[in-house]
Amino acid sequence: MKKETLLRRLPQVDEVLKAPPGERWLNRHPRAHVLRAVREAIGEKRKEIISGGAPDVSIEGLLPDIEQRLAGFGLKSLRRVINATGIVIHTNLGRALLPPGAAQNAARIASSHSNLEYDLMDGKRGRRLSHIKRLLTETTGAEDGTAVNNNAAAVLIALNSLSQGKEVIVSRGELVEIGGSFRLPDVMASSGALLREVGTTNKTRIADYEKALCSQTALILKVHRSNFRITGFTEEAGIGELSALGKKTGIPVMFDLGSGCLIDLGPYGIHSEPTVGEIIKEGADIVTFSGDKLLGGPQAGIIVGGAGHIEKIEMNPLARAMRMDKMSLSALEATLMEYGDPEAAKRNIPTLRMLLEGPASIKRRALRLARAIKRHSGAAKKADISVLEDFSQTGGGALPGIDLLTYAVSVRAEWISSNRLEGNLRAGSPPVVARIKDDALILDARTIGDEEVLEAAGCVGAALAKEALS
Ligand SMILES: *Cc1c(COP(=O)(O)O)cnc(C)c1O
Repeated sequence: MKKETLLRRLPQVDEVLKAPPGERWLNRHPRAHVLRAVREAIGEKRKEIISGGAPDVSIEGLLPDIEQRLAGFGLKSLRRVINATGIVIHTNLGRALLPPGAAQNAARIASSHSNLEYDLMDGKRGRRLSHIKRLLTETTGAEDGTAVNNNAAAVLIALNSLSQGKEVIVSRGELVEIGGSFRLPDVMASSGALLREVGTTNKTRIADYEKALCSQTALILKVHRSNFRITGFTEEAGIGELSALGKKTGIPVMFDLGSGCLIDLGPYGIHSEPTVGEIIKEGADIVTFSGDKLLGGPQAGIIVGGAGHIEKIEMNPLARAMRMDKMSLSALEATLMEYGDPEAAKRNIPTLRMLLEGPASIKRRALRLARAIKRHSGAAKKADISVLEDFSQTGGGALPGIDLLTYAVSVRAEWISSNRLEGNLRAGSPPVVARIKDDALILDARTIGDEEVLEAAGCVGAALAKEALS
């Protein structure tokens, strides 16, 4: 058939709307969505014809495309995904999962009035941060504590409050980039503090800090190397040594810990991460860390330390610009409360649970996933599915260089490349994010929830079948 004929036969929008499913669409979807879906579907056919194709131009031929578009318009852009990467604190996948109790608390506070800034004893205005202060001091041993929107903000406001226009001494080995363009020298410049670099990339001694002290010094800053390690011919001044120097000279010492762990991970073979409490005990005056990294709570930037410093930070006008909202604050309070019982915290805080789960238990979940994929009819039967040993990463700028023994399901199929399979999974519902290794699709069971196993298996089955059909 000629192009012109096909184009002429393409149905009009009105005709499509009058067809039997038209009324059903209009009952279920906003009119604007229906019109857009029909127009786009017709437009797609037109394009196909113009580029030489001969598609089905009947109304029936348009229906599947319209239905699919309508379903898509209803979807939220920000959606749940299944994390099969094994990366526990995956910044791109939303970092920490809230403990269920914290999520419930946030939902309750969000949908009701609350005493957010109201003192119920006095019937007067109260303070937003009062809800978490005692928890922050109890869990860290610090004299006082406060919180802002995220740790980048915590570092910025602390530097601005304590050292604007003055010098801050930092080791050249700690001028880090955290990612998402958070570079320490730039943050410092924005805060109005003047960077005074000391030492070298691999070696900075306490004497280097001592030599740099002058009448312009406001702060000594130590920064956690969150996402890399320096090994070999190295030396650094510990927080204890720096704090002693600070005490001797009257200069406060701040440690940007980044991740901020509240319980000892040593018994689990993770010895590289001192707790916030240990850092405070060693004499740090100010410690900053994230709410949604190892702590396992909502996005937040927590600042703990001496009461005088915390007061200065809370009085800073920037505090208002960076203040936490009630949902995050209520989730943070509930998460911090979990730490009252550290054993329960390891079970109830998903970040800790995923991080500390033993290989045997991960292996059981991987086997269950592999079996469930094989049970799927059709295409999945012919795929090559096995369980293998692998390593997962903590991610999120925490515990760099530590490999966690894990188990993963490997999927290979003759009729589809691993890249296509990975793409199909991402496009599925819910999307599953996996990785590719040695040309096989790898689903790491560490970060897949027990309750997600069957769903994930269904997604893999569908992703395999999609290609087998076409
Ligand atoms: C992650 C990190 C930050 C930034 O924290 P956010 O909560 O992502 O804003 C700052 N400093 C260090 C050392 C970090 O690891």
